[in-house]
Amino acid sequence: MNEPNAGTSKTIKGIPASPGIAIGKVVCVDNKRRKVLPRSIQASEIESQLAQFQRARDTIVAELGDMLNYLKTESSAIIETQKQIVIDIEIEKRVSAAIREELLSCDFAVYRTFCDFIERLKESGSELFQQRIIDLENLKDRFIDVICGNEASLEIEAGTILVTKELSPTELVSLHEKGLSGLVMEKGGVTSHAVLIAQSLDIPCVVNAKDAIKRAANEKAVLNGREGILILEPGKNELKVYQTKLRKLKKTQKRLLKNISEPSVSKSGTEFLLAANIEFESEIKFLKKYNAGHIGLLRTEGLLFSNKISYEEQTGFYESVLKGVDGTVTFRLFDVGGDKLNAKLPQEANPFLGWRGIRMLLDEENLLENQLKAILTCAGKNKGRVKILIPMISILEEVRAVKNVVQRIQNELSESGTEIDEHVAIGAMIEVPGAALHAEQLAAELDFMSIGTNDLTQYTLAVDRGNEKISGLYQQQHPSIWKLIKATAEAAHKVNTELAVCGELAGDVLGACGLFGMGIKNLSMIASSIPKVKEELISHTDEEFKQFADICISAATTTQIKEAFEDWRIH
Ligand code: PEP
Ligand code: MG
Repeated sequence: MNEPNAGTSKTIKGIPASPGIAIGKVVCVDNKRRKVLPRSIQASEIESQLAQFQRARDTIVAELGDMLNYLKTESSAIIETQKQIVIDIEIEKRVSAAIREELLSCDFAVYRTFCDFIERLKESGSELFQQRIIDLENLKDRFIDVICGNEASLEIEAGTILVTKELSPTELVSLHEKGLSGLVMEKGGVTSHAVLIAQSLDIPCVVNAKDAIKRAANEKAVLNGREGILILEPGKNELKVYQTKLRKLKKTQKRLLKNISEPSVSKSGTEFLLAANIEFESEIKFLKKYNAGHIGLLRTEGLLFSNKISYEEQTGFYESVLKGVDGTVTFRLFDVGGDKLNAKLPQEANPFLGWRGIRMLLDEENLLENQLKAILTCAGKNKGRVKILIPMISILEEVRAVKNVVQRIQNELSESGTEIDEHVAIGAMIEVPGAALHAEQLAAELDFMSIGTNDLTQYTLAVDRGNEKISGLYQQQHPSIWKLIKATAEAAHKVNTELAVCGELAGDVLGACGLFGMGIKNLSMIASSIPKVKEELISHTDEEFKQFADICISAATTTQIKEAFEDWRIH
């Protein structure tokens, strides 16, 4: 088993979160959350306290705006979401009411408002909210620092490797501006927002490195993001090896971007397709940089979180996504649980096994119909370019039920004189092991399937994908996942149904090679992963990929697959 928190006295081991190498001095920061005690104000102070809140808000919005300009990558959507939180009308109402009606100071009004929201999210017990909680905690601290005039920003020298508990995306961006070269966090999962930003800024990052702050103070160190280790005070020889590796890495990065306009064919001449996963409008502008002609997964949950679910708001968003690429866009229907949508609902003991994805949509008819109507209208205007993807399918009846609703809406649109695409493709996510094992019957009634390895791993290995305590067990490359993928690929092939993969495994070089070897040539991933995956897929023959896929199926452990991959790719 992968032991994330072990390590010798000179090596701190965590979970690899963003690859790359950094060599530099370690700075340890034990960031503590701010606390504010209640403080009453006089009625005569109300207006000045309200003005103080507005000023703090403007300052933070301006800071986030600067970061957006600086970031200019697909992860800028994360900062944009933070901006939406800062200007949220509900937050403003509550802070104002606390100042005006309860005569509370501005700093405490802000503190209590954010704490209330955080508490509510925590009570929901939903892992899907974990990242939002961290965002709110960080914004709360930033508000308090600005209101109280604390100089919170950390000064570092260029080349520093920061070791800390956890970091907000905004803190990370500002440290990157100052020349941060690597990041180690004691907390955090591999899909946390700070990690996504680290990946897009090419900052090597390791998470879940227990007690790192205590052990690493002021040492010279090497951070190996791919291996998930921080080597303290490396010996002369070790340092030399890493300096050479670092030089090579820089060269490779340059070369990868050059490959991007090469034809997407393996050494045997077999074509493959690399598409992008996106969620926010601001990500569209980066598709061209990575030559992504298709969107293989459009996550639509962002619309729900920002409450932009009217028919007009949805069609507006969908049209701009369609304009962003020349090829197809795979629209995934809202994939959320009931607790997210309706606070009145009773809490579920097991939300991930509960009312989520298509289970919820089939009960919430209006929500499903409205989304389908918006997607199908766009499909009529963009014939052949719209695909509909159903999340969390576990039984065939769910597929049939969605197809019936699609048919009914198509008829209604057609009767009202709206142009429709009669052949709009309908597919299902394969992310429940039962669906993978039953793929032939599902495929027979679908136009395409897309394997969501993120959830497939969670459900197959019974490992909560957001729980850092067991993150070492969350192995997308585990032999059992490969077996389910192979079964799905064979089923799809048998009934001639198109198959793609849109989970993280597709954007992983090892994963992409194994998937190609199993005959899956349609992969969708975070756009910035396209260059490295492409380089690997154009470098081997079909027979070689098949040989590697066989290893994935027959291996005893994930470690064995990883080791075999290193051998395979250089021979
Ligand atoms: C997946 O589960 O692999 C997937 C792509 O969907 P999400 O990560 O949005 O759950
Ligand atoms: Mg999923």
